[in-house]
Amino acid sequence: MSTVMRSPAPVRGQESEEPLLDVQDLTLQFHARHGLVRALNGVNLTVRAGERVGIVGESGSGKSVTALSILRLVRAGRIAGEIRFAGENLLTVPEARMRQIRGKEIGYIFQDPLSALNPVRSVGDQISEVLRLRGVRKAEARRRTLDMLQRVGIKDAGRRIDDYPHQFSGGMRQRVMIAMALIGEPRLVLADEPTTALDVRVQAQVLDLLWDLADERDLAVVLITHDLGIVAGFAERVVVMYAGKAMEECSTDELFRASIHPYTLGLLHSLPRVDGEVPEKLMTIGGSPPSPSALPSGCPFHPRCRYALDRCREQVPAFVTPPNGSHPSACHRAEVLAQSPGVLQ
Ligand code: SF4
Repeated sequence: MSTVMRSPAPVRGQESEEPLLDVQDLTLQFHARHGLVRALNGVNLTVRAGERVGIVGESGSGKSVTALSILRLVRAGRIAGEIRFAGENLLTVPEARMRQIRGKEIGYIFQDPLSALNPVRSVGDQISEVLRLRGVRKAEARRRTLDMLQRVGIKDAGRRIDDYPHQFSGGMRQRVMIAMALIGEPRLVLADEPTTALDVRVQAQVLDLLWDLADERDLAVVLITHDLGIVAGFAERVVVMYAGKAMEECSTDELFRASIHPYTLGLLHSLPRVDGEVPEKLMTIGGSPPSPSALPSGCPFHPRCRYALDRCREQVPAFVTPPNGSHPSACHRAEVLAQSPGVLQ
């Protein structure tokens, strides 16, 4: 597991601030040859201006599909629920407005920059194009692209601006992707596993860069990752996803100190602790996540949950804050677990 060296900043005053992004009960379903696929089954996510939020979960939990749905880049299927960005309902704005929002107001960083970048165009051309599409003159777009490449740490940017993606290392390509995501000066960036393909040292450098840029621009970042170590060092708040559903949402501090959802507890107990101490028992979560085309009834985690009751097999738990708890989770037993948060017996 990799870790970022910084400690997360304190959670900013959330109560008074309107969210920049507010996703409520987001669902996505589509028909495939083998039946109905329920890719998202109730995602709740709020992000405030300048806030760094992590979405964490195992592979196939719906993290990336959530980001693609927010950007309306999922071509097939029926999206329902609510996605509000700066007061606009992204599920109902015309496609022309959505094209403006993508890149200009919401940037996107992909896991694999090589597949996201066009191999036969220079990186400078590709970054400048974001500005050119908005009517910025060619010379000005190139000047701003050069500035941005320097800002993201591309050495000798004046020469490298005309290089092609394959001429950059993995870490440098990811810096190019960050430059492309930020050149339009968005208010929010969705970063989907941006460092997964990188070695630990380069991973820390790229996350440091993202942190610095977010700080200096009051940029909100949603970081999608399967790596709790990255969440620990980067995010102020975390949403834990499983089977296309938000299972728990809390501050990063609470995630490690006072989780109340059995899935989160399982994730935490199956990893070495981020402070370097070895937990008394290193456990794994038995079984594997369900296919979105064959979700279990009731709570989707019940086949793997050591706390499951009969009720869990029949009723889908609501995403609510238990009366004695400090944050929301989707678990019938949240109230009981909130009495001894963070403990897995
Ligand atoms: Fe486990 Fe039941 Fe809670 Fe689901 S609702 S996480 S099965 S205790």
